[in-house]
Parts: sequence; structure tokens; C-alpha cells
Amino acid sequence: MPDPNGFLRYPRRMPARRPVPVRISDWREVYPPAGEELIREQATRCMDCGIPFCHSDTAGCPLGNRIPDWNDLVRTGNWDAAVESLHATNNFPEFTGRLCPAPCEAACVLGIAGGQPVTIKQVEVEIADAAARGGLLPRPAPTSSGRSVAVVGSGPAGLAAAQQLARAGHAVTVYERDDAIGGLLRYGIPDFKLEKRHIDARLTQLAAEGVVFRTGVNVGVDVTAEQLRAQHDAVLLACGALQGRDTDTRGRQLRGVHQAMAHLVAANRVVAAAGEGRPALATLPDGTPIDAAGKHVVIIGGGDTAADCLGTAHRQGAAGVHQLDLYPIPPRTRDEARDPWPTWPWVLREYPAHEEGGERVFAVAVEEFVDDGTGAVRAVRIVEVTVEKRDGQRILTTVPGTERELPADLVLLAIGFEGTEEQPLLAQFGVARNARGAVESQVDWQTGAEGVFVAGDMHRGASLIVWAIAEGRAAAAAIHSYLGGTGILPAPVHPAAQPLAAR
Ligand SMILES: Cc1cc2nc3c(=O)[nH]c(=O)nc-3n(C[C@H](O)[C@H](O)[C@H](O)COP(=O)(O)OP(=O)(O)OC[C@H]3O[C@@H](n4cnc5c(N)ncnc54)[C@H](O)[C@@H]3O)c2cc1C
Ligand code: SF4
Repeated sequence: MPDPNGFLRYPRRMPARRPVPVRISDWREVYPPAGEELIREQATRCMDCGIPFCHSDTAGCPLGNRIPDWNDLVRTGNWDAAVESLHATNNFPEFTGRLCPAPCEAACVLGIAGGQPVTIKQVEVEIADAAARGGLLPRPAPTSSGRSVAVVGSGPAGLAAAQQLARAGHAVTVYERDDAIGGLLRYGIPDFKLEKRHIDARLTQLAAEGVVFRTGVNVGVDVTAEQLRAQHDAVLLACGALQGRDTDTRGRQLRGVHQAMAHLVAANRVVAAAGEGRPALATLPDGTPIDAAGKHVVIIGGGDTAADCLGTAHRQGAAGVHQLDLYPIPPRTRDEARDPWPTWPWVLREYPAHEEGGERVFAVAVEEFVDDGTGAVRAVRIVEVTVEKRDGQRILTTVPGTERELPADLVLLAIGFEGTEEQPLLAQFGVARNARGAVESQVDWQTGAEGVFVAGDMHRGASLIVWAIAEGRAAAAAIHSYLGGTGILPAPVHPAAQPLAAR
């Protein structure tokens, strides 16, 4: 029986972040461990609601995490059972606990009318870390099914599917074109949000469960679809949605104007190299430097990628950073008329990177990247705008007389993704991108090609880790059934964690 008054006795409290001057001088995570006393106190705030919207199948956790159960297990200090309960629905809570925007907290009953939701995500990460401290015990399948599956892409979707299928007795090989496993978790998301030791610990567990990893293999180039299909009974495509959106704004071709991902991947590779004692410079694959040190940086975009560029630029020693957003500044609290509880609200999201410096500029559009006369960018000319939606179309109106220039030696485009990349693998497997750049599936996660399944960002478009894990689990269950596996693999029931065709 949970404590019915916990939330009246304790306010919502998060662990203190590491001080800004300290954390921007390294790449380690922003949050230190919370400590047992704080986390048990915060778990005590959970009421174990009769209808726990935090894990409801409409608004809350896409994985159906058993949040009230493990909150109570933490409250009573029953850590082993909490670890079990959390892993029953989530393969990688150490990733979601650190990185999820937490739709569960937006849906928590304690958040009604501007209240303070349970710190669900923080409780999750503490349980995940308790599991890791004890060593992530492998759970190899007792018997082999004699069937084999190729997973193409090693992001959270591919890895979740791989673990589920290996535990069901199938022989799983994960193919990754990059030099390390992890997808966007590895070289997209910076270490100050997710230290890579968490990925490595999980990979050790997966390997011990029989998953084989093959890095440096670009499927469709180094190995053909035909070869892969000949070697495996089923294929899961989990190649992400890495086609960065671009712009044709005047001056786009200037030196110093780059896709955000070019900057992040280069920076994250430097951090990885330093961890292995290899000094390196942040450069593009062709050797062009792309480091923010001493530069005036302008980041265009307002999401996760933009915030990650901001934190990275400060750690590299940028002279100054502006982050531009087309839309007006959102309200700080939920607008009940527009986004009633428990839906996901449009509110100002302030990431830890925002308290580290830089200036956010809202309701502006870029008119031109300004040439310094040598073919390099020296400024960004912006203008204030209003944005309206008419007949589903976005209409921008500029405010006359508001043009101004921001100094810029490095411009980073973090304006979203246009689905999965066009690459040889698609035609070889006989699958195509739809108008949104996604690869569709039938209701059983199978693409139009027999035995070829799809999951994660490649299927739903650029999204979140929690959805990638949910889709990886769901696709694994479908593959297991396709292979004639005995029993049913657990899969999320959230309506949006279904193939697009089933919604
Ligand atoms: C900068 C950034 C920050 C983000 N921050 C957050 C966050 O804080 N919280 C959150 O929830 N989400 C965040 N996201 C989104 C999240 O990372 C993605 O939704 C998630 O990683 C998608 O998982 P996935 O497995 O579908 O694909 P990905 O993680 O994109 O992995 C796809 C993998 O497939 C590989 N691949 C592609 N083609 C081939 C091929 N032909 N052969 C072999 N391998 C191939 C790629 O190299 C890649 O490793 C962020 C995204 C970005 C870009
Ligand atoms: S909605 Fe909030 S208070 Fe209710 S069970 Fe979930 S976490 Fe606990």
C-alpha cells in the first residue's frame, strides 16, 4: 500500500546539477547520482493512482512502464524487485531515464492544474543505475530456435529488438555501418547527456546473451540485401531517420555553414578518442575543422539537436552562441485550453544546456548567411516573423524594419530530419520511402518485402528513444511469431506503438 500523503509532505525535488563552470570544463553528465534518501522520498510522492495516467495507453509511457509499482518498490527499499519490474517493459532504462522527455510526467495525476508530477524519470534512472552497479546479468535463452535474424542498424530500436529476439532463442546479428554500436546514442547524443559507458555495459550484456555485432558493415554496399537474406530467416531494418533537413537560404554554400549533426558527430568522436587516449580535432570526414572554440556560433532550431549543439559549443569554448527559433516563446506552464492534461503540452523546454549560456531568440527567420568576402560566413541576417497555420500550411509573415545581423563564424542547421536516408539498401530490399521519408509496414511490422521488417525512426520518422525501444520490442514480437517461435514476446500496447498501417 503506497503512502497516500507522501506528496503532501514532500515537494518535487531533483538532484542538484553539477555547477555550470565545472561541468562545461568537461564532458561528463550534468546530473550526479541522486542518492538513496532523495530518491526514496520522491518515490514516496507517488499515490499509486487507481487510474495511473503515467502508464496509460493513451497519454503516458509508450512502453507501458509499470511506474506506480516500481515507485512503491523504491519507496520501500526493495531495489531488486524494482529492477525486475522496470526491465519487464523496458530493455534500456538507463537511456530513457537520462534522455526521455518523459510523457509519463506530463500525464502524472500530481501534475494536474499546475501541480508537481512525481520525478518518474529520476526514479527510473536510479533503478537502472542500481541494476548496473550489481552488473547487468545476461539472460541467455535456455534453448536455440535454430532460426536467425539480421538487424540492420544498432540504435535503440535495433538493440531492443536484438535483445528480445536473442532471449527468445534466435541467433541475432546486428549490422552497423559505423565503427561503433549505438546509433544516435553513440555519436549523435553528447556525453554530457549520456556517458557512453552505459551503452558499453549494455552491449556486454547483449553479447553474453548471444547477440553478434558486426560494425563497419554498410548493408547495401559491403553486403547486399540478397546475401543477407540468404544468411538469415528474417531481417529487421532499423536504420534511423538521419536525412537532415536543409535550407536554400541565400549564403547556404558559405564555409562555416553546416548541418548540426556534422558538428555533433565530430565533437562526440573527439570525446570518444580522448577516452581512449587518442588526441583528435573536431573535423568533418574530409578534414575540415568544425570546432566552436573562439567562434561566434548561431544554431538554427529549437529541439534536442539544437540544445545538444549549444552544450557542445560551450564545452568547446565558443565566444558566444545564439539559438534561433521560428516560433514565438511558448508559455512556461501548460495552456489547459490548448493542451489539456494529460496530453503532451506545448511549453518552454529548458534543457540544462540553456543554463550554461547563450541567448535564445524566438520568432525570427534567417534571411541570409552573410559572406565575409572570402566565401566564409561572417554573420546571419535575421528578421522577426509571425507564424500561422492556414489549411495545414505554415504561413510566415515578416515584420518590416526588424532586420538585424548576428555575428557568426559557425552556423549549425538543427532544423529537423526528412526521414530515412535514400541509400542502396532500400532498392535492394524492395522497400521505398513514403512522402514523409519513412518506410511503411503492414500491421505485423513487415514491409512489402517478405520477411523484411522495419522499426524505430526509419518507420515513424525522427522521434524519441522511448518510441524506438517500443517499436523494437513490438517488431521483435512480430518477427518471433513470423519465425514460428513458441509463446508470445511481450510488446507495448500503446496505440501509437503500433505500425502506421494499424493506426
Ligand atoms: C542530436 C540528437 C539528440 C537527440 N536527443 C534525444 C533525447 O535527448 N531524447 C530522446 O528520446 N531522443 C533523442 N533523440 C532522438 C533519438 O536519438 C532517436 O529517436 C533514436 O536514436 C532512434 O533510434 P533508431 O534505433 O530508430 O535509429 P538510430 O539511433 O538513428 O540508429 C540507426 C542506425 O542505423 C545505422 N544504419 C543506417 N543505415 C545502415 C546500413 N545501410 N547498414 C548498416 N547500418 C546502417 C546508422 O549508422 C545508425 O547507427 C535525439 C536525436 C538527435 C539527432
Ligand atoms: S500518475 Fe503520478 S501519482 Fe499516479 S501512479 Fe503515476 S506517477 Fe504515481
